[in-house]
Amino acid sequence: MTKTLIRNADVWTGSTDQLTNTDVLIAGNRIEAVGEAAASMAGEGADILDATGLTLMPGMVEGHCHPSFTGINEPPELGRIAPEEHMLLTAQNVRLLLDHGFTSIFEAASAKPLLGVTARNAIEAGMIAGPRMRAGSPEVTTTAGLGDERKRNIHQESFGLIADGPDEMRRVARECVRDGVDTLKINISGDEFVSHARAEITPLEDEELAAFIKVARTFGKTVAAHARSSQSVKMAVRHGVDCIYHCDFADEEALDMLESVKDTVFVGPAFGLVHNCTREGEVAGLTPDVVESMGLYRKFDATCATYHEIRKRGIRVVVGGDYGFAVTPMGQNARDIEHFVRYFGYTPYEALCCATQIGADLMGYGDELGKVEPGFLADLLLVRGNPLQDVSILQHQDNLAMIMKDGRMHKRPGAGAGRSGLIAAE
Ligand SMILES: [Zn+2]
Repeated sequence: MTKTLIRNADVWTGSTDQLTNTDVLIAGNRIEAVGEAAASMAGEGADILDATGLTLMPGMVEGHCHPSFTGINEPPELGRIAPEEHMLLTAQNVRLLLDHGFTSIFEAASAKPLLGVTARNAIEAGMIAGPRMRAGSPEVTTTAGLGDERKRNIHQESFGLIADGPDEMRRVARECVRDGVDTLKINISGDEFVSHARAEITPLEDEELAAFIKVARTFGKTVAAHARSSQSVKMAVRHGVDCIYHCDFADEEALDMLESVKDTVFVGPAFGLVHNCTREGEVAGLTPDVVESMGLYRKFDATCATYHEIRKRGIRVVVGGDYGFAVTPMGQNARDIEHFVRYFGYTPYEALCCATQIGADLMGYGDELGKVEPGFLADLLLVRGNPLQDVSILQHQDNLAMIMKDGRMHKRPGAGAGRSGLIAAE
């Protein structure tokens, strides 16, 4: 079995807000030892890395990822990309995510059926490079909901799979199960980007959500929901949705309901898109007037207030920010960790936990991913600098000296990576 000994790293195990200078031994795809014993257990022939001056930490988890979103300005653009080309663009994105230190991604929805499933299968088969992946269905929505861009006079596809009424919900959900998804995604509320169904409108009805979730339970699938309105958050909790995204306009009652299920539910703000539209939108033609007319400044403020409250109540939050639009280029994903600190009141340690172990919990890996501990899967980063002091260092590829996924080097540290120089094979 291949063994790698990482010596003298400043280790962030994920369990405390401190770094510990020590050694870590990896055997096969798992961490075998952390601490003084690691060196003596390495044995002959181990690959030895001197990580002096570098921080070793768990790989990051993107909890709201759209690897098949390809830098688009508007959702209908996704409908115009041929499936064959779209698959190649998706493969490019999953590699890009791993290149940026994301060793796991939870797909919050695929832009077309089978893009995520095929990417996940290709990664697992070793055909393409990419993170561990939970594949999502497309966003299931109703006529006139988020993801329905059809017009009476112009046929155009978008990213939604449209179903109306419980019977169609059952059929569409079962088709996605047949495709091989891990997660079924449903849009409960509208969105500021839909002129006739804004964020605080809730197009989906209880019977439709109930039918959808019953299929998920029958087949043992995770359910993720787009839920911006307060009503949609309450519906999601009542019906037992596993991961409730956004929750921007959750009122006191909705927050109480979320808190009541905090041991089983995950939430995720997907804040990157809101942030970039309001702060950096001009690159995509979003002038301040347009942003104001879409109500995005108001949404920005609502999201910040909601997540301060969600943090205080100890509800589990995953990192991930709707990257993959022109205004949110793929690869910037780690910016959301800094947003948690800057806008939601998280300490760097708390935000890093969201980006590692809480994401790993959402992925379904329980107690074997997201920490640097014996027995855990070896998804690891060596980082220049201390992310517990400055989480923004994780946004720069040059600071990622090593990226290891499942015990294999995706990016191997080069000479001079640490203060003492790196890689000294013995
Ligand atoms: Zn999304």
